[in-house]
Amino acid sequence: MNEIVKMNKNGTDRISENFYQIRYYYLGVADVYMYLLIGEEKALLIDTGYASTMVINYVDELTDLPIKVVNTHGHPDHIGGNRYFDEVYISKNDLNTAREYSDPFFLKKINDMIIHNISLNNDIAIEEYQKDIELNNSGMNVKYLDLPEKGYFDLGNRKIYFLETPGHTFGSICLYDERSGVLISGDTLCDKAVLLTFEESTSVRRYRDSLLKLKEFCKENYINVIYPAHHDAPIGPELTDRYISLCDGIIKGEIKGIVRDGVMYADDGKICLVYKNI
Ligand SMILES: [Zn+2]
Repeated sequence: MNEIVKMNKNGTDRISENFYQIRYYYLGVADVYMYLLIGEEKALLIDTGYASTMVINYVDELTDLPIKVVNTHGHPDHIGGNRYFDEVYISKNDLNTAREYSDPFFLKKINDMIIHNISLNNDIAIEEYQKDIELNNSGMNVKYLDLPEKGYFDLGNRKIYFLETPGHTFGSICLYDERSGVLISGDTLCDKAVLLTFEESTSVRRYRDSLLKLKEFCKENYINVIYPAHHDAPIGPELTDRYISLCDGIIKGEIKGIVRDGVMYADDGKICLVYKNI
């Protein structure tokens, strides 16, 4: 087994009582985290990762309660396991994105790209992952339920609030677990980089508006801990300020992004914003 696979272990971590992080590394390297929150009557699964059966097995081990499923946004590393559930909540602004990324042709293209990048690292034994690759390429047909701009899930003596934070995608959401005081940020806030480079991404200005809204929300609810969908977790709310400053610099023209492969990269030495439109 190579070093990367050893480091990036699939598994679950208990964050607090009835609150779990499920970690899955597609082909041993492409990380994504899902979160399971358990109330007295229901459980809420936030994102379903790539199309591995591993995720649903973890969920089954953690709870017997009926499960509601919500996607933080419609990208394939967040919706792949939707196939194991009857209904999935998603913002109506990300419905098209989720449908597009459920198309086998589209998925194969993305998977080939990931595999190409990983195969540059000779250590990865791709054969081990054939089943996951096939599943991820297979496409799916899921019943989606619209989420309003904001609201909450009531899991029985546990409310999980959500709010729309357009940026990474038009219908990206963040969720807040009142009981633990934790915010789950999806791809809206990550420690290394936030990507606004997709067709379904907003401008830097629109993303900045979402960050300001999120900052206010964190302040109102005394949120100090944020769990993102990738990379280091948890992260702190000060990252919101860093991204706001970066957005401000870009909008005012004080920070000029470096152009690479048709998109712009701006960073402050710690975090990076990758964007197309200001
Ligand atoms: Zn994404």
